This record gives sequence, structure tokens and C-alpha cells, in this order.
Amino acid sequence: MNCYRHPSRPAVGNCKACNKGLCLECAHDTKNGLACVETCVDEVKRLNRVTDLSLVLMEKYLQANSGLPRMALHILAGIILGAILTRLFTH
Ligand SMILES: [Zn+2]
Ligand SMILES: [Zn+2]
Repeated sequence: MNCYRHPSRPAVGNCKACNKGLCLECAHDTKNGLACVETCVDEVKRLNRVTDLSLVLMEKYLQANSGLPRMALHILAGIILGAILTRLFTH
């Protein structure tokens, strides 16, 4: 896979927001995923914030409901997280 802006250069990774290939020059490292340096930096930072927040909320919710069997908690956590991520990555 090559950079979407520089078709002759190999990509170092994918943008976390739009999933395009990025070369070293075009990739911005947000410390939690790469972003297109000009267009997607804010969007990726926002995605990271939303993901962090939902994980914290989910942990609190699960602690509050710890009367449930552990298996049910894990299944529930998977469903909630899956729904959140699907929402984030489908436009
Ligand atoms: Zn490039
Ligand atoms: Zn992008």
C-alpha cells in the first residue's frame, strides 16, 4: 500500500479517521493512531477522546452492576463497545 497523496511512496500506516494510506510526511502521530496531517488530526483526536470516555463510562456502569455474573458483564461490555465503535467508523 502506498500514500494516498504520494502514490510512489510506501505508506507507514493508515489514518484512523478516513483509513487512507499515509507516508511519513503525510502522517501525524496522535499517540493513539495516525491521522492525515492536514485534514484528519482533529477528527482522530476527537475519536480518541470519545473512545476513552466511553470506556470509562462503561467501567463505572459495570462496577455499579457487579451483582451480575461476570460472563454477562463481559458479553455486555463487548456489545456496548462494538456498538460505539460501529457508530464511530460508519458515516
Ligand atoms: Zn505522502
Ligand atoms: Zn484521514
